[in-house]
Amino acid sequence: MKIDMYDVAIIGGGPAGSTAATLLAQAGRRVIVFEREKFPRFHIGESLLPFSTQTFDRLGVREKLNRTFLPKYGGQIVAACGTKEAKFYFKDGFRSRLDRAYQVTRSEFDKLLLDHSRENGAQVREQTEVKRLVFTPDRVKIDIENSSGANETLEAGYLLDCSGRQTVLGNFYDLKKTYNHLQKFSVFAHYENVDRPEGIDGTLIRMVRGLDRWFWIIPLTSTRASVGVVMDTKTFRAMKLSPEAVLEKCISEQPTVMERMTRAERVSPVYSAGDFSYRNTKFFGDRWLLAGDAAGFIDPVFSSGVFLAIMSAEKAADTLDAVLRDESRRRRLFKKYARTVNYIMDIYLAFVNSWYRRAKEFVEVFLNPNDTMQIAAAVNAVLAGSGGKSFQIKWRMWLFYFFVNAQRFVPLSPRLSLVPKKEESPASAETIGAAS
Ligand SMILES: Cc1cc2nc3c(=O)[nH]c(=O)nc-3n(C[C@H](O)[C@H](O)[C@H](O)COP(=O)(O)OP(=O)(O)OC[C@H]3O[C@@H](n4cnc5c(N)ncnc54)[C@H](O)[C@@H]3O)c2cc1C
Repeated sequence: MKIDMYDVAIIGGGPAGSTAATLLAQAGRRVIVFEREKFPRFHIGESLLPFSTQTFDRLGVREKLNRTFLPKYGGQIVAACGTKEAKFYFKDGFRSRLDRAYQVTRSEFDKLLLDHSRENGAQVREQTEVKRLVFTPDRVKIDIENSSGANETLEAGYLLDCSGRQTVLGNFYDLKKTYNHLQKFSVFAHYENVDRPEGIDGTLIRMVRGLDRWFWIIPLTSTRASVGVVMDTKTFRAMKLSPEAVLEKCISEQPTVMERMTRAERVSPVYSAGDFSYRNTKFFGDRWLLAGDAAGFIDPVFSSGVFLAIMSAEKAADTLDAVLRDESRRRRLFKKYARTVNYIMDIYLAFVNSWYRRAKEFVEVFLNPNDTMQIAAAVNAVLAGSGGKSFQIKWRMWLFYFFVNAQRFVPLSPRLSLVPKKEESPASAETIGAAS
């Protein structure tokens, strides 16, 4: 029997898989994607970052995205005590050239990107699960099974694992290292009629920071929003309640979330996800690379997941294309790929660590922007997905962390309680990242 041979086979048709598939197909490579689900399907990860825009341009999907999804001009962080909040607009980021990202319903976004990779010449097989992989010195053999139980074997020169948190190869080779200090649990759902301001402010992600939990409200369409809460896994377990009851209880106890939800009606099941923070110790082998969540996922805060998925998939596609041109460069290019992706993940890890380890101090400093040195603008740029490679951004981020740490001992910014107040005074608003 003749076995089909591809240049690259991709596991997973999420944002990472479809991005890599389109770019490889555009480069003239024979590429196939295996996706075990039938799209559209629900997925979490709805608030995007502006720095994905350059990849969307390369893919040729920006017009389609503009037509389909709500723009996102920035975000807002609110202290749960209700006394202070701050908005940041991407246009005010350090040397910003991008003023917006998108808020997306992932079922539609993922389908749009996967259909686009088909239109660009990638083969896509939905409802097809990768069951077994065998690596030989010059290829990978892939056993797949479709929804009716039929099995098939295909071969490819290289395998790109974009299987998300399933991380097929990470589990296969036992590469997964969880972040023990980030054992979080999240419950979330879609709601109709969540109140939001008119105009640009109605497009912002709203994050409410409590002492031991934080909430997101993400506008998805003109009437629909995603609402979720993240807490320690042990806090969730201690509640001894179902995910539905936890979401309801957390929202009802939080006036700065509740004030937006007096007319809200839940229109989706309550979903949950837990223990989602990990990184694989290796991102490549002789015949494979990992990209997106299959390489690692840090934390939902700061909405970096899809940005990291798309960024790493773009770099993986370019790396594989170069290696297919000249196999002798493989080792060097794979190493460079892993170094670059790890470096960018580390930037978000440092940010996330500060958010959780110094919860109160982080919010106190963030909500009191003193922009004489454009520190807030640099923080804003990282929140937009600027890799932070520039020294100009790096030293400003160091100073930000320094102020957050110093805030423990010296109240450089006014103290906040982060505990909801029943009769809160109206929040005083600030704008982060505006040029000083
Ligand atoms: C609670 C929470 C909130 C989040 N919020 C945000 C946010 O606001 N913004 C943001 O940017 N990110 C967010 N994220 C992260 C985001 O969900 C992910 O980073 C993003 O979806 C990663 O994309 P991906 O393509 O790598 O993986 P995925 O989108 O997970 O795609 C992987 C695909 O692989 C398929 N697959 C898996 N195994 C197999 C197999 N064996 N065979 C065939 N197919 C397979 C799956 O069906 C899936 O479709 C959040 C994550 C969590 C947990």
